Amino acid sequence: MEFRDLKKQYQVLKEDIDASIQKVMEDANFISGTQVAELEKGLAEYTGVKHCITCGNGTDALQLALLAWGIGEGDAVFVPDFTFFSSAEVIAAVGATPVFVDVEEETFNISPHSLEDAICQVIEEGRWNPKVIIAVDLFGLPANYPEIRKLASRYRLKILEDGAQGFGGSIHGKRACSFGDVSTTSFFPAKPLGCYGDGGAIFTDDDETAKILQSLRVHGKGEDKYDNVRIGMNSRLDTIQAAILQVKLRAFAEHELSDVNEVAKNYQALLTDIICKVPKVPEGYVSSWAQYTILLSDEKTRDMLQMKLKEQEIPSMIYYKKAMHEQAVFQGMKQYTELRISSNLCKRVLSLPIHPYLELEEQKRVYEVIERLIRVEE
Ligand SMILES: *Cc1c(COP(=O)(O)O)cnc(C)c1O
Repeated sequence: MEFRDLKKQYQVLKEDIDASIQKVMEDANFISGTQVAELEKGLAEYTGVKHCITCGNGTDALQLALLAWGIGEGDAVFVPDFTFFSSAEVIAAVGATPVFVDVEEETFNISPHSLEDAICQVIEEGRWNPKVIIAVDLFGLPANYPEIRKLASRYRLKILEDGAQGFGGSIHGKRACSFGDVSTTSFFPAKPLGCYGDGGAIFTDDDETAKILQSLRVHGKGEDKYDNVRIGMNSRLDTIQAAILQVKLRAFAEHELSDVNEVAKNYQALLTDIICKVPKVPEGYVSSWAQYTILLSDEKTRDMLQMKLKEQEIPSMIYYKKAMHEQAVFQGMKQYTELRISSNLCKRVLSLPIHPYLELEEQKRVYEVIERLIRVEE
């Protein structure tokens, strides 16, 4: 069993993907070929956002967004304490100060309550200028944007949606990567919409920001890349990756998103009686299931379950073992609010195999291992 079966996906889409790659080879338009612009158009249409600017990867996408807004030294950026390192890394990379915020146990996403507490603490201290909230759509589920937007308006902050894991999710029909003032995603192969290497994209409705982003991703270009008006990066999506993504986006929209939701529904039905904590999807929300993460009662049970699964050759992963404030590089940074839930989750989470091509039989095998262990535990 594969944790995320990219080989199976390729077998299904092989004919179209091979033809798509072949075309790029023949045209030899490896950088900024027509497929890149076509893909950007398709992604903008899918998410319902005016501008899509593709780039080298999901980390660059976040960093480019902060650069476009001129975020840097003296600025505070709020970020969930329970996320992949990139979400916080980019804040420090542009010279700003990351302020870690606790998450909710039910959704794994940023807690609006903890967020407001952190914002107030930073304002009261007066040392940093609060500027941006980075909200992460963790494991495929959009963050609580209705509440986050209220706080952003109240305290005049921008929202940067880190949709690296969230592409395809939605709230009342409004799609992920449309919730931020700027939103980003990643096409790392294992993400909900992945390519065959590194890739990323940035989304915004704001014309001026889009223009700056287009310049920043190509060495801060002005008229062309030999006219440089700002310090930028070299961060473009390869034409080959764009060509692959054109095929994959079609499959994603046509059946993969609904197939993976079917898999999640089956897990939910199988596991409900056994584990008290299966991932919660709030009313009106749709997840794109980058991960299916369950919550065990304690670290010992979690580690035992992972071992038992491994004995049956079932892969599982711990996302994440360490909270942001526990990472060596961030140790000693001031905490503005309690980060209790985040630390506790690191001891209890376990992510199970999930992808659109996972068979019901495979899911039943996962369930059986869990069922056996939990029964022994009781
Ligand atoms: C994967 C990921 C990123 C970074 O994406 P890359 O394309 O690997 O640079 C950023 N944020 C989150 C939450 C991620 O999961």
